[in-house]
Order: sequence, then C-alpha cells, then structure tokens
Amino acid sequence: MTENQGNLYIISSVAGGGKSTLIDLLLRKHPEILFSVSYTSRPIRGGEKNGLNYHFISKEEFEDLVVKNYFYEWAQVHDNYYGTPKEFIEKNLKDGKKIILDIDVQGADKVKSSLPSSVSIFIVPPSREIWVERLKNRGTDDPQVIEKRIKNGLHELEAQDRFDNRIVNNELMKALEELETIILS
Ligand code: 5GP
Repeated sequence: MTENQGNLYIISSVAGGGKSTLIDLLLRKHPEILFSVSYTSRPIRGGEKNGLNYHFISKEEFEDLVVKNYFYEWAQVHDNYYGTPKEFIEKNLKDGKKIILDIDVQGADKVKSSLPSSVSIFIVPPSREIWVERLKNRGTDDPQVIEKRIKNGLHELEAQDRFDNRIVNNELMKALEELETIILS
C-alpha cells in the first residue's frame, strides 16, 4: 500500500443486526467517508432506492458483469447475488478515501485476503432473542425468508472471531462511537 492510499472498512453482521442503521448514522456524521453501493439481483424492498441502497439488476445482468470481471468481490447470499464494483473501490482507494463496505462474511474474507490492510468489523446483536425479535418485526420479509435469515445468521455469527473488531450493538449511540473510533483512528 502506498502512503496516500485510502482504506476499506468492511462491516458485516447478521440480517437484523442493526448494521444499516449504524452505517447511515456514521455516513451522515462523516460525509467524507464513502459508501460502496453494491450491485444485487435481489428484488428491491419498499423504502429502498435504486442507486442509493443498491444497484438493482437482473440475475442475467449480474452474471454478465461477473464474466466481465466488474466486481472487486461478489457472493451469493440468501439465493441472490451481491457484488462490490471494482472501479469505484480502486479509484477511491487511489484518491485516499475511506470506504465502507456493507458486505457478508464471505465477502469480508475475500476482501481481507486481497487487501490485508483493510479493517473488518462485525456488528454483534445484543442477544439471540433480541435479534430474532428484530428480524420478525422488520416487516420487510415473509416468514419463510425470515426463517432462512435466522438459519443463515446463526452460521454467520460463527464467523465473528475472524474479524479484526467486534461491536456489540446494545446501545445504538455507544455502538456508533465505537465504530467512529475504529474508522477515524
Ligand atoms: P440484504 O439483502 O439484507 O440487503 O443483504 C443481505 C446480505 O448481503 C447482507 O449481509 C449484506 O451485507 C450482504 N451484501 C450486500 N452487498 C454485498 C456485496 O457487494 N458483497 C457481498 N459479499 N455481500 C453483500
């Protein structure tokens, strides 16, 4: 890594771990920090905006981009494809920016091995009970999807020991402070 290069901050959690809220607060407070908007083949949810939360594309379009080597990393999560655009990452690293990646644990492993100086952060839900309750109350997914997310989440929680940092999301503002300390230090 050259001296003026920026860095990647990988934030992973389980669905319903409170990661998106934390990232939103962080970005509002620190507009100099960039968010990498991923591409996904998952259907858009109510309240989401194309180009802001994700670039929503079809499965075929995604597979075409994979062939064209468009992604820095990509993975299949909960039956859908998700990928980080390579050009955005490389350009902004060169420009010395701090970039947040909201990606799953498979993506975190890939980024960490291709850029060891990247910093990985796992957001841990306060307890299994609170986490399951949050997932059910989100109202964005149907019961089968929720069941699947719980099953996958239990597996993802096992990955937290591989992360450089763990933040228990018990109190939102305290978790935000911890996140700021890691990213701004
Ligand atoms: P959701 O569908 O709930 O928005 O996201 C599902 C999972 O996909 C989350 O764990 C999220 O962090 C992850 N994800 C989002 N974008 C990417 C990406 O570009 N790459 C990888 N590997 N995971 C992603």
